Amino acid sequence: MDWLAALESTGGVVSIFAWVTIAVICMHELSLCEGIVEMLQDKARQEQFRRVQSIRLEIGRLSCVEVDALRFAFEAVARNSVARNAVLEIDEIPGRGFCSRCGELVEMTHRFDVCPLCGGYPVELRQGDEMRIKHVEVL
Ligand SMILES: [Zn+2]
Repeated sequence: MDWLAALESTGGVVSIFAWVTIAVICMHELSLCEGIVEMLQDKARQEQFRRVQSIRLEIGRLSCVEVDALRFAFEAVARNSVARNAVLEIDEIPGRGFCSRCGELVEMTHRFDVCPLCGGYPVELRQGDEMRIKHVEVL
């Protein structure tokens, strides 16, 4: 049964379930964005600026933050704040880890990867699980 047929037969219930799924996927990103916007609101009060023009974030590829979901959540959360219409710039930081067996810094695409050079394990994650605010431009 395709979605349209399902929608017709259930009188709109399918569309509600789709919305719930999206909301669950974005939960993590949503709370992150709420934290960022709250911080910007506090700063705006303290430092007397009225608008955030742009914000630059660094997000590690192994941080479990979905960039598209983050953009979506930021737009929704920032709507009624000093950060409305702010440009959100995101730098993705690749994962890197240290292999104690061969002593090399190696690229990691997953948190529990084995060393791509020697097959050693564990590889100690050194970079790529962070999320930080790099720069905020205000008016
Ligand atoms: Zn190794």
